[in-house]
Amino acid sequence: MLIVPEALIASLVTPEDAFRAVEACFSAMARGDAYNFPVVREALGEGRQYGFKSGLDRAGGQLGVKAGGYFPGNAAKGMINHQSSVFLFDPDTGRPVAMVGGNLLTALRTAAASAIAIDRLAHPEAQVLGIVGAGHQAGFQLRAAARVRRFERVIAWNLHPEMLPKLGAVAAELGLPFEAVDLPRMREAEVIVTITSSPAASLLAEHVAPGTHLSCMGTDTKGKQEVEPALLAGATVFTDEVVQAVTIGEAQHAVGAGLLDASAIVPLGEVLIGRHPGRRSAEGITLFDGTGVGLQDLAVAAVAVARAHERRLGIEVGV
Ligand code: NAD
Repeated sequence: MLIVPEALIASLVTPEDAFRAVEACFSAMARGDAYNFPVVREALGEGRQYGFKSGLDRAGGQLGVKAGGYFPGNAAKGMINHQSSVFLFDPDTGRPVAMVGGNLLTALRTAAASAIAIDRLAHPEAQVLGIVGAGHQAGFQLRAAARVRRFERVIAWNLHPEMLPKLGAVAAELGLPFEAVDLPRMREAEVIVTITSSPAASLLAEHVAPGTHLSCMGTDTKGKQEVEPALLAGATVFTDEVVQAVTIGEAQHAVGAGLLDASAIVPLGEVLIGRHPGRRSAEGITLFDGTGVGLQDLAVAAVAVARAHERRLGIEVGV
């Protein structure tokens, strides 16, 4: 078994690798070659969450699990709030193949999923990117979105405004003008990414202009919520995994309130394999409910393991 520690990941997996791996994984899911197992997610108290996301990709030859969670006290200790590890197994024998640091991989695969949705669903000429949130994931989201559209500027809102300059520094690195705005000014954006740990809606339907694409990436647990359910009711809703969207994703609220039928939610993989046209009109709102699936984690971890083998990196241990 190969151990690929967190410190090696940045040198092994690029954002482009993550984009391609997640695209392949969503397509395999849509073709029925890959499926996610039910998510286990437990509250540990004091805002801590812990759980397991797992699955089998027959086409990609991946079986495994990501164990990890969200520990809001970590930032004060100089660590990121998300901590996770990915374990890969041989799908034929069940033998452990690798243990891979999952923190950077989580950020890369989450940003990749959001960017794939933007790539396929947003207006080709979108000029203004709006970001709601400014925590650890937000910079990754901004970088990934900027790879799929030629944005002219970035506007951002965060409940804790003191966090915004760090996101502004990422925009500056990308050469993009950056402005902190109030939520009603999100109407200036053609693409909006939400990436917060909010327990209640911040972004309302009136804050979103016709024709906008939203990638809602923060809600991955029962009880979290970033946007008003009316937004989903008026949008074409896409997701990574419908079962997760209605239980732990943003759609849990609109479906629970009877404003959205689960059968109307489209897996993004259907668009990738050409079974769904995606955006149907210039004025329609498209919304990707990115809940984060175990297969995404396995896909990017497999890239890390393959590269580590090629470069003779990592720690080989007998099992
Ligand atoms: P973080 O702790 O670094 O940042 C949290 C963000 O949420 C900050 O912008 C903070 O200001 C904001 N926030 C906190 N409380 C809020 C409230 N009550 N209302 C509005 N905003 C609030 O977290 P992070 O690592 O950036 O992750 C952000 C979210 O994304 C988390 O909920 C995390 O679980 C989720 N996430 C989802 C996926 C996925 O695949 N969908 C993957 C990774 C993380």
